[in-house]
Amino acid sequence: MKFETTALHGGRKVDSDTLSCATPVYRTASYLFKDTEHAANLFALKEPGNIYTRLGNPTQAVLEERLAMLEGGAASLALASGTSAIFYSIINICEAGDEVVAANNLYGGTYSQFDSILPQLGIKVRLVDPSNPENFKSAINDKTRALYCETIGNPGLTMTDIEAVAMIGQEYNLPLIVDATFTPPCLLRPIDYGANIVVHSLTKWIGGHGTVIGGITTDAGNFDWTDPKFTLFNEPDSSYHGLRYAHDLGDMNSIAFALRMRLVPLRNLGACISPDNCWSILQGMETLALRMERHSENGLAVAEFLQSHDGVEWVHYPGLKNSSKYETASRYLTNGFGGMVAFGVKGGITSGKQFIESLNLFSHLANVGDAKSLAIHPASTTHSQLSEKQLEMSGISASMIRLSIGIEHIDDILTDLTQALDKS
Ligand SMILES: *Cc1c(COP(=O)(O)O)cnc(C)c1O
Repeated sequence: MKFETTALHGGRKVDSDTLSCATPVYRTASYLFKDTEHAANLFALKEPGNIYTRLGNPTQAVLEERLAMLEGGAASLALASGTSAIFYSIINICEAGDEVVAANNLYGGTYSQFDSILPQLGIKVRLVDPSNPENFKSAINDKTRALYCETIGNPGLTMTDIEAVAMIGQEYNLPLIVDATFTPPCLLRPIDYGANIVVHSLTKWIGGHGTVIGGITTDAGNFDWTDPKFTLFNEPDSSYHGLRYAHDLGDMNSIAFALRMRLVPLRNLGACISPDNCWSILQGMETLALRMERHSENGLAVAEFLQSHDGVEWVHYPGLKNSSKYETASRYLTNGFGGMVAFGVKGGITSGKQFIESLNLFSHLANVGDAKSLAIHPASTTHSQLSEKQLEMSGISASMIRLSIGIEHIDDILTDLTQALDKS
């Protein structure tokens, strides 16, 4: 099946009792055992089935199977948020003393997690400039257990050369984790370029309507965890009958990463997604390819419009032909460049605020990937605690406006931007 078809039918199972056409929401905390043997088999992983919704749920299972198919992966695990999907992906590999080499142009929440939470657990993250993939290589040492990057990074909306980073990972036998939130799988499938684990915030374009929070991690099934340096996969797990995840899973060994993530971090830390949120996200996924076409078409039109406007200092968009980012971006993004546009408004922080306050159609809020157009002025909101110097260091200028372009008619989007630029 092609992408658009899988987005509607992948993993869909007809409920045999009701013949419900849509995937039902299984709004239950737990499931009956048929008898004691059935219960024992479920707990011993001898038989697949439902036990308790913290571990999984049939609505969630459809979402996971569908996303794994769309991503070209072997198995997915949906979680409460993109943030928990990232955290669990790291702690599923690393323990105290281990290190991760990550791109430095990360989503703000991920930056804080890597900068302040992971060190509390004894996990060190070395941040490198991803514009040259060799920087990942220079930061690798014998404690490194994973490489991490985003497909399109903040704030410059620069595309990382995933294939080059994945090759470095292969050379050192290290898995590459890619946060592909800004490029849903109809635009880019990092696994096709050698990524081993792909993370998404489902809250953004995949859910697509700004209604629910969710996250997902997909295991490509292409990484060999039997290297003894991955202790969590090679030493017997005393909390799971002495199971060694890289060795004892039989025909499920190829999805050791996804399975361990469900059996250990999810089971015992508990950031599970609700069945209702899975249903909303499935609903969004049905139109993902259609929406991304429009997000990308509108995104490019807005970037080109801003570039030729007198009130604009600069524009960041991966699809602008005269930009230095274009070469790498156009190699990876053949179906569109997505809906994120950043630009500098002339006149600094005052004009930036005035621009935001003058918008009518755009919603002023902290989110991206909604079907509706969104705008934020980082210097007066998300980054307002930073000094001018710190702002400069994180690449956020006082005049920067970040837009998430929606699927409205382009004429209405440009009309709103024009009048707000006039006022600013
Ligand atoms: C939003 C976002 C996250 C975090 O996802 P939540 O669902 O908000 O927890 C992570 N990475 C990127 C690139 C995001 O845009």
